[in-house]
Amino acid sequence: MKYDYDLFVIGAGSGGVRAARIASQAGARVAIAEEYRIGGTCVIRGCVPKKFLVYGAEFSQMVADAPGYGWTVGPVSFDWPTLRDNVQKEVTRLSGIYTSNLAKAGVTAFEERAEIVDAHTVKLKKSGGEVSAERILIATGGSPYLPEGLPGLELGITSNEAFLLPKFPERVLVVGGGYVALEFANIFHGLGAKTRILHRGDKLLRGFDDDLRAHMHIEVERGGNQLTLKTTLTKLEKAGEAIRATLSTGETVETDVVLFAIGRDPHTGGLGLERAGVKRDDAGAVIVDEYSQSCVESIYAIGDVTNRFNLTPVAIRDGHAFADTIYNKRPTPVDHRSVPSAVFGRPPIGTVGLSEADARRSHEAVDIYRTNFRPMRNMLSGNQERTLMKLVVDGKSGKLLGVHIAGEDAPEMVQLAAVAVKAGLTKQQWDSTMALHPTAAEELVLMREKVAAPGSAA
Ligand SMILES: Cc1cc2nc3c(=O)[nH]c(=O)nc-3n(C[C@H](O)[C@H](O)[C@H](O)COP(=O)(O)OP(=O)(O)OC[C@H]3O[C@@H](n4cnc5c(N)ncnc54)[C@H](O)[C@@H]3O)c2cc1C
Repeated sequence: MKYDYDLFVIGAGSGGVRAARIASQAGARVAIAEEYRIGGTCVIRGCVPKKFLVYGAEFSQMVADAPGYGWTVGPVSFDWPTLRDNVQKEVTRLSGIYTSNLAKAGVTAFEERAEIVDAHTVKLKKSGGEVSAERILIATGGSPYLPEGLPGLELGITSNEAFLLPKFPERVLVVGGGYVALEFANIFHGLGAKTRILHRGDKLLRGFDDDLRAHMHIEVERGGNQLTLKTTLTKLEKAGEAIRATLSTGETVETDVVLFAIGRDPHTGGLGLERAGVKRDDAGAVIVDEYSQSCVESIYAIGDVTNRFNLTPVAIRDGHAFADTIYNKRPTPVDHRSVPSAVFGRPPIGTVGLSEADARRSHEAVDIYRTNFRPMRNMLSGNQERTLMKLVVDGKSGKLLGVHIAGEDAPEMVQLAAVAVKAGLTKQQWDSTMALHPTAAEELVLMREKVAAPGSAA
């Protein structure tokens, strides 16, 4: 045979593992390399452990809500090592399942770093060997971006380390205003830490619908987080056991943890892409076509390293589509439109489709339906958290363009709303669906009145 393998996958995360398994099951000789732990970001230090911590954090609100429902709650306490270690046990179990599924599918796994030598050759860094393959798939994901050059940077952590903290912090300074920042602020706050969010922008959650962003601003503060906008860090230094952070306003803040959640970079450093002639964009992401092929014929890339939609289901779909295209001879481009996403903050967000601003840019006429209410669940408890629901509709065809919700169970609701948006249903079809009472979700099909157009007198 001309090559050692038909396919060599670099990175055993969500996308790489799926591509490797499907290609191998289709008869290809496949190898995969992983430099950290099989399972990748989502399983090891992303979605999965994060969601467990979110579940853990929710208990404090339940305890606060319980007396209104007649419960007498005695003294409660939280033990971080129990939660941390239980999460890690589950992560290890899941990583084991990924490893055995690769083996069952006949994929050879190298648990070490791999780098590209040329269009058909990969170097294994630990063992030093070179392996050839007809095709190489880059599935190396992303890694947290850090503000290089910040004095005292080494005192801060990223989401990677947050899962493994030896001790639960009393005070946390979360730097960033995106979904990971909000989720970790929610986790630490819910588990009992005093949290402060520091964001250089003037609004949270760039890229989300503006009404959601405004709603989250109110709720994040109502929930008890301190929110400091239009401010950056200028210095970190040790202050005994604590960290002293100096802000761009000159204020100094003492804290136990500084968590950087200011974005992620495609993980391509030192991978040998220049050597192989693989083109990247300004952000460092591998440039690919609709079949995930790079400018080098034998090299493909999927998932976060392509910086299209950095979410697990997308990486999995990309990986599956790549394997179907090449090894099952079924050309499958991935449709990256109408991808639903969530923010597991307080309240959680679920969103799919166009924001109002994007819809107004791309459509002649846009109708907006919006409701903002205190859900039934919060009435007896006195919880003041409010729910926002918003529909963005094409004013001409009546088709639903976007559904945006911030409120309890929003991500669960939006998974189903995404079916309607993807299918191109109209608001009329949506409204002809009978309400399910009493739920918060029923409000979605009961929004009759358009919100007045911006600038109108109504
Ligand atoms: C804190 C956090 C929370 C998140 N929450 C969600 C969520 O709720 N929902 C959601 O859909 N997405 C979430 N994501 C995003 C999600 O984790 C990613 O979109 C997804 O993991 C991307 O999959 P991937 O296969 O592209 O890369 P990854 O899963 O990142 O896998 C890449 C793998 O490649 C390995 N690797 C890198 N370079 C090399 C090399 N040279 N040699 C060998 N191995 C290498 C890495 O170690 C890694 O294991 C979250 C991410 C983070 C950080």
